[in-house]
Amino acid sequence: MKVGILSFQGSFLDHSKSIHELGYESLLIKQSKDLTSVDALILPGGESTAMKKINQFSNILTDVDQLIKDGIPTLTTCAGTILLAKEVIDGEVTIPNIDIEVTRNAYGRQTESFEGSVKFFENEDIYCFIRAPKISKILSDTVNVIAQHNDEIVGVAQKNVVSLTFHPELNNDEYYLNWLNDFIKEGQNVRSF
Ligand code: GLN
Repeated sequence: MKVGILSFQGSFLDHSKSIHELGYESLLIKQSKDLTSVDALILPGGESTAMKKINQFSNILTDVDQLIKDGIPTLTTCAGTILLAKEVIDGEVTIPNIDIEVTRNAYGRQTESFEGSVKFFENEDIYCFIRAPKISKILSDTVNVIAQHNDEIVGVAQKNVVSLTFHPELNNDEYYLNWLNDFIKEGQNVRSF
């Protein structure tokens, strides 16, 4: 099992650690040809505008888009979630693959980043929100809520895509790693909320 992690910039190395904890191989995706041999994809957090700019040199995201549409299990965190959102407030739509509207930097500036309690499927834990977006609208009945912080939706699943606004890869807690293992293997959402 090999998991490709988009590695333009951002927290790709932390996701790579999670994949190694599970005993799988990770591949840091820097060129389109890296995509040919992966069984699952992760689009990490970072800075979505920077990722879009870096993409202009290679246009890997066109091939990433196709792989996602072909059904590869895909996890996105934070900036990765912005890249896949169908609508983006205060930002640009990039490769829409999940029917949500996100609002970039909705909690404020970098200094307003925080740790908060998140219900992620059946589990509750403290996770980091780093200049996170908010999922401001769900645009389809086929989008399932899978994570909440207070009354806010901070994680959704639709078909082969799971999109979060927080950073479980910085915790690598047992619940998250077990879920990730099942998600990579099953190719779809494998827990209930
Ligand atoms: N603020 C970043 C953006 O708009 C997202 C932050 C993150 O990925 N932690 O792209």
